[in-house]
Amino acid sequence: MVVAMPAREHLDAYQTALSQYDRASRYTKIADDILEYMRYPRREFTVNFPVRRDNGHIEMFTGYRVHHTTAMGPSKGGIRYSSEVTLDEVRALAMWMSWKCALVGLPYGGAKGGVVVDPRTLSLGELERLTRRYASELVPLISPQMDIPAPDMGTNAQVMAWFMDTYSMTVGYSVPAVVTGKPLQIGGSEGRNEATGRGVIMCMEATLKHHGFTEPGRIKVAVQGFGNVGSNAAAYAHELGFVVVAVSDVYGGIYNEKGLDIPAVTAYSNANKTLQGYPGAQSVTNAELLVLPCDVLIPAAMEGQITAANAHDVKAQFIIEGANGPTTPEADDILNDKGVFIVPDILANSGGVIVSYFEWVQDLQAFFWDKEAVFHQLNRIMMQAYDRTLQRAEDLKIDMRTAAQVTAIERVANAVTTRGIYP
Ligand code: NAD
Repeated sequence: MVVAMPAREHLDAYQTALSQYDRASRYTKIADDILEYMRYPRREFTVNFPVRRDNGHIEMFTGYRVHHTTAMGPSKGGIRYSSEVTLDEVRALAMWMSWKCALVGLPYGGAKGGVVVDPRTLSLGELERLTRRYASELVPLISPQMDIPAPDMGTNAQVMAWFMDTYSMTVGYSVPAVVTGKPLQIGGSEGRNEATGRGVIMCMEATLKHHGFTEPGRIKVAVQGFGNVGSNAAAYAHELGFVVVAVSDVYGGIYNEKGLDIPAVTAYSNANKTLQGYPGAQSVTNAELLVLPCDVLIPAAMEGQITAANAHDVKAQFIIEGANGPTTPEADDILNDKGVFIVPDILANSGGVIVSYFEWVQDLQAFFWDKEAVFHQLNRIMMQAYDRTLQRAEDLKIDMRTAAQVTAIERVANAVTTRGIYP
């Protein structure tokens, strides 16, 4: 008897990334040897480093940084702090960054980094020492011209500030453009904090409009994850009049079929560091949230959440992927058969790297834009990519994920073959 193992699926993000790549590659005319070349990460870096804990003891930590491709320019991608980080996960996330940057036309390749640590177990001082040591280990690999980190799960603007300071102290002068997602006062960009969540909702609006839904007040939205992406997506959806019926964090979710007051939920979450106990809503688990009755499901926590084990039970008609890799290929097949319309991660959450790109441009030029200009350019780039992906999906009669990956893979292959193979 064959036994399905959904619990392991989330560990196999790299298998998901490769399987999506192979699936999309079939729709391209790229030569096999070039396809094989792009399947590999260009560089993989592993470092084991010591951090002094507050009690005086020294503890060892492991960190990674992977550059998937540099064919289109410097590599770009977030830094994740999580006890579940593995080299394979970082490889997958780096590869998705390559496709994301190529899809929306940014002059970057993909990268990703991570440290195997639960940041909630560190004091602020320990978090700073861990960040500074990891950043200094990465100095040979990062620079505004080579590789530009940004925040991801478990990291934030303060962590980026320590990264920027550590790099700057090493080279002897301030280099704001070495990381993005920084605080405003040291060269961050207006709108970067909200960018990913806002972009997710722009894609949701475009999708609903395309399917003939024009009244936000009649659309129920469930959001998994209430961090940077999830909370900003929920806030913007609420602001636009959509009915956000559920949100969740690592401890579980809250649900009210009539809709949640998102500013009040945010204030509660900030004050209590959890959503649990929020009055006026019922508790649900993260697994229950994914199959709640709603029109739009926004997975915005982590990869491997919608699997063969629960895809049949998903009630939403639309899935807008805020997280990277939340849907496994097996779940994709089930959802596509059910007629669920999925806006894939590399398109739906590209708002973050798009505004990171604006931040890098602003830092390099030392000329800063206002929020209106940032959101105007964000909307322009994202909606262009959205419309082209939709057109490609319709032309090739394929789903949005495959269409997005076909476009992205072709663009990277084009850069690779135009540059030629060195030497
Ligand atoms: P974050 O650390 O700010 O928030 C993560 C959220 O998920 C938190 O609410 C956390 O409690 C919750 N969570 C963690 N583990 C969970 C679990 N096992 N089950 C359910 N919930 C869990 O991270 P973020 O920056 O919002 O990133 C979320 C996702 O979006 C990740 O997949 C990330 O790669 C992707 N992403 C982030 C950005 C960005 O700009 N921050 C851009 C593109 C994609």
